[in-house]
Amino acid sequence: FARRRRSLRELLEHSLTWGDRDYLVTEDRRVGFTEHAAAVGALATALAERHGVGKGDRVAILAANGPDWVVTFWAAQCLGAIPVGYNAWWAPPEIAYALGHTTPKVVVADAKRSARLTETGSDVPVLTFEEDLPALVAEYRGAAMPETPVAEDDPAVILYTSGTSGRAKGVVHTQRNLLAITEYHRFTDAMQAAFTGQPVGDGPSERRYLVTAPLFHIASLHNLVIPRLATGAAAVFPHGAFDVGRVLTLVQRERVTNWAAVPTMATRLLDHDVSGYDLSTLAALSLNSAPSAPALLERLREHLAGVPLSLTTSYGLTESGTAATVATPLDLLADAGSVGRPIIGVSVEIRDPDGAVLPDGTEGEIFIRSQYVMLGYWNNESATAEVIDDGRWLRSGDFGTMTDGRLTVSGRRTDLILRGGENVYPTEIENVLVEHPSVTDCAVFGVPHPDLGQEVAAVVVAEPGTVEEDELREYLAARLAYFKVPARWRITADALPRNATGKVTRRDLAV
Ligand code: ATP
Repeated sequence: FARRRRSLRELLEHSLTWGDRDYLVTEDRRVGFTEHAAAVGALATALAERHGVGKGDRVAILAANGPDWVVTFWAAQCLGAIPVGYNAWWAPPEIAYALGHTTPKVVVADAKRSARLTETGSDVPVLTFEEDLPALVAEYRGAAMPETPVAEDDPAVILYTSGTSGRAKGVVHTQRNLLAITEYHRFTDAMQAAFTGQPVGDGPSERRYLVTAPLFHIASLHNLVIPRLATGAAAVFPHGAFDVGRVLTLVQRERVTNWAAVPTMATRLLDHDVSGYDLSTLAALSLNSAPSAPALLERLREHLAGVPLSLTTSYGLTESGTAATVATPLDLLADAGSVGRPIIGVSVEIRDPDGAVLPDGTEGEIFIRSQYVMLGYWNNESATAEVIDDGRWLRSGDFGTMTDGRLTVSGRRTDLILRGGENVYPTEIENVLVEHPSVTDCAVFGVPHPDLGQEVAAVVVAEPGTVEEDELREYLAARLAYFKVPARWRITADALPRNATGKVTRRDLAV
């Protein structure tokens, strides 16, 4: 491996080595590394000259996935500015909150979101993907990529958490964090190349990564898009909302090798006949960001039996920088319910409420320490102090158990249902429910109860008329302790409410 890099700007310089190879590919656009760098140079120069963007200034990005998102990210890096990924699904009040919180010098947005920005009443300058960016890139064409000295501990990006447990918080990752993640991905790329019989060296990677999660989410930006500058691999973006047919057509056309999906996408894949597509290039499919039920993994393996891919899962938080643990096919074979082992450079501890480290097999709160873990929350010292201790251990807010070196996540502290004296984790019940042949999706949550404090409720997605509440009750009662069997039910044909990372937004559920 080459010498250690000290800034993302150095990676950008290095990307010129890859020439006209594809970096960003969409259904109708193909941007090579040289063209990308030219656009970055032009936009960075325009941002500095026209909008006075300089070191430490925030540049907010509010848009659906696409090459311009990435160009804006790198343009900010040239100026030592901090790109901030706003959630493209936010409504005007949420955007207004984020504008007040990260006070960007300029917002770069697609047309749809710039209309939403107008509704906030903010007077922050807005540059649109559709008109302003092409005009600026044309006007400043030929401008070299500016270079602004940065320190390794300077903030390099701010991404908001999903906000499933309250208001979204701005997670700050430093230059050092992102470079460490990039090195980790260079290493796993080389491993994958070795396993698939390709030469491993300093030449470009033949991997092609499908990006189906939003770029404002860590899984896409940190793992799929930034590291590709180091390896010369392409990131492939389908357009619009997730559509299985379009995605598979793109996988076939672009000969995609790696896909990082959220479990809901896998569920949707099960409903789609895959036999008409050539998916032979797809070497790896990883499921991230939310729990994957063992039954889902099993069904997926059967469904994709003709595709020689390795199926993995991973566990992580926006705060942990990248996956904290990865379950390889071998880990899943040994324990289908685990999220695998800590990745290189990550330490995991399970602690009791007093902070004492618990032995293997005992459930407690998951703590994570690594060079990838965030610096802290933007402008929120007290929230940072709540989750990062003096030893730089990150408190995950999830409960789990370590067994034989593998982690099992029981669930989030905030999702835990306190029923009488018993603790009930929704995931455990959901994993059993989805094994029922009529259940396509489900979510379990707590609802208030006068004596018990909370009782267990379930929303089940099934074709109308295929299953009744009594049958599901009996089914669970035969498999789980009585107090875990939901007392209240709703069976529906409608999809569950989910956020951008495929997590059920439990606060939107009702029975
Ligand atoms: P907020 O902190 O604002 O509520 P969030 O925590 O939902 O947002 P993310 O950082 O996107 O935002 O999600 C991290 C959480 O996702 C983890 O803490 C964990 O609860 C859950 N998670 C991620 N991967 C897995 C997995 N493989 N299995 C179980 N849970 C997972």
